Amino acid sequence: MTANPYAPPAVDSRLGVFDPTGVWRDGDHLVWRLGAQWPDRCLRCNGPVTRRYRRELYWHAAGWYLVLLLGPIPYIVVALLVRRRTRIEVGLCREHADARTNRLLAAWGAFVLGLVAMVSGCSARGGSAAAQLLGGLALVLGGLVAVAVVGPLVRVVRIDRDQARAAGVAGEYLDDLDRGSGGAWRV
Ligand SMILES: [Zn+2]
Repeated sequence: MTANPYAPPAVDSRLGVFDPTGVWRDGDHLVWRLGAQWPDRCLRCNGPVTRRYRRELYWHAAGWYLVLLLGPIPYIVVALLVRRRTRIEVGLCREHADARTNRLLAAWGAFVLGLVAMVSGCSARGGSAAAQLLGGLALVLGGLVAVAVVGPLVRVVRIDRDQARAAGVAGEYLDDLDRGSGGAWRV
């Protein structure tokens, strides 16, 4: 596609010109051609962006999880070979970026606190030691789960050779996309 010489210049040249045909909505999912620029709006509320994130996304077909039956090492090797990857740049408004940062800090705080409790439990005795070890373990695991939930900005549903789809984007954001303009998605 040749560039339109009458098109207005991009507001932020670092981001390039948004191509509305490269990103579209399919139900609750956002579908995009690999390499296409996403709308520069907050993923959570469609408001103005104050913080941007570059993310590498990975995906492989669910059937490959069966390799886990052979153990974690074979699975990791296979997953590294078969996974597809793509890069996106997305943004959040100040409010959602701050909320995310605070939740991540709280999650990592629980993780560190749990580690400290477990270390101190190792040098304690009797019931107090068991309580500190168990409480610490709960904090460590809870912190890791919270990081896994809060950390990802979008959830990758599928990455194909030329396009991908993601969930976890606000309805307002999806409403603004030209429905179906990019063509059908084949599963
Ligand atoms: Zn927002």
